[in-house]
Amino acid sequence: MLFHSTRGNDKNKTFEEVLMQGLADDGGLFMPDFWPQVDLKEMKNLESFVDVAKYIVPLFTKSSFDDDEVIKMLDETWHDFEDKNLLKIHNINDSIDILELFLGPTAAFKDFGLQLAAAFFNKSLKKQNQTAIVFGATSGDTGSAAIDACKKFDAIKSFILIPDGNMSDIQRKQMTTVDQQNVFAILVNGTFDDCQDIVKEGFKTRSFLKKDQYLLAVNSINWVRIIGQICYYFYAALSINKLSEPLNFSVPTGNFGNVFACYSAYKMGMPLAKIVVAVNKNDILQRFFNNNDYSKSEVYETISPSMDISVASNFERLIYDFFLDRDENQCSKIYTDFPSKPIQMDESIWKKSQDLFFSYKVNDESTLNCINKFSDQYNYLMDPHTAVAAEAVLNNSNDLKNKTVILSTAHPAKFPNVFEKINKEISYIPNSIRNVLHKKEIANKLNASKKEIFSFIEQNN
Ligand SMILES: *Cc1c(COP(=O)(O)O)cnc(C)c1O
Repeated sequence: MLFHSTRGNDKNKTFEEVLMQGLADDGGLFMPDFWPQVDLKEMKNLESFVDVAKYIVPLFTKSSFDDDEVIKMLDETWHDFEDKNLLKIHNINDSIDILELFLGPTAAFKDFGLQLAAAFFNKSLKKQNQTAIVFGATSGDTGSAAIDACKKFDAIKSFILIPDGNMSDIQRKQMTTVDQQNVFAILVNGTFDDCQDIVKEGFKTRSFLKKDQYLLAVNSINWVRIIGQICYYFYAALSINKLSEPLNFSVPTGNFGNVFACYSAYKMGMPLAKIVVAVNKNDILQRFFNNNDYSKSEVYETISPSMDISVASNFERLIYDFFLDRDENQCSKIYTDFPSKPIQMDESIWKKSQDLFFSYKVNDESTLNCINKFSDQYNYLMDPHTAVAAEAVLNNSNDLKNKTVILSTAHPAKFPNVFEKINKEISYIPNSIRNVLHKKEIANKLNASKKEIFSFIEQNN
């Protein structure tokens, strides 16, 4: 199994090359050359999440690592979770289950993808006797999950840019209270877009690297993160009905990585009815699925900050695989012109999405109402991201014939301000969050200047 770019000019890459490279050379996103198929009969006998991962992950890694080696690694990959099962399924009623993905050390689902990424980064670096720098910008949960996942590996130093912005105090503190020599949380006097531009420039110039050192990307376009997420869709379907009946999944969506993992599981053989693409006021995806209009607009701040995006970077993978039947020339053309030219598909091609996807937009007020509804009716407290996905389900129950799984992507205790607003007490605070509340913040403060930031990295490299 090798990989290629959605834009066609970077191909025949091994898993390890794709892992360490992140984005393809031609600006596209890496895709597997084919969709590996699972044997549902064999999968029925699996029990734990790690069992499922041992079945799924090797389907993608054979070009670089022996299966035995990968399977052994997976026993150690996911660590510091609140529950030894790593995730839980909470039953609400006959038609709704909630898949709780926030039991990891940063209390959001990104631990699943990033702990797998870090384990493979480390494996590859050790094999090559190399070191690496992780460099990224974060507007929410990616930075904390990346820092936490990489901090135990000496060969990796993390430099994460934290913009002035809408993230919660706890999201910030999860990064700024890590007191370790290989972790650098950098508070930047600038916006998320400023930070992303600096990161992009860093990946171009690479001026602060040592000879042969790797520069690693942890943003959601790295294929290894998608693999980690595919595993929990199969696990959920296995636990709920032994993969016998198609389920609906409702996903609170930003960069489309989580939805794309669901679609990938479906392409690999998981029974699936519908995917609900639930978004907040940042509605580029909802406009596409409902009106065939994928046009970039400004970013709005909401109470579900980890979904505040202007474009959904992983959506290119769906355009390429689902809408364009893997026509790389078409995909390249569409994305070369974007965002100056909005994406609009031929009507007949666009219509195809209605069998599998639907999208729904939820504003802040409805999000809060939904949190209240679940709290009052089911005595279940959900975080605002989860509530966007839940509200989408409540409002479309007529279109959701099968059982629906709502993905819960973060623990409510990460967003205490939201719960103060509606006078709800959060009865349980995970240890991981309690631990950062009173720790001293030790972040470095820098201006949004690439010169300043690059020289800081160089000095600390
Ligand atoms: C990142 C994130 C999302 C959005 O996930 P995508 O894969 O970017 O669509 C939703 N909820 C939470 C809590 C997140 O951290």
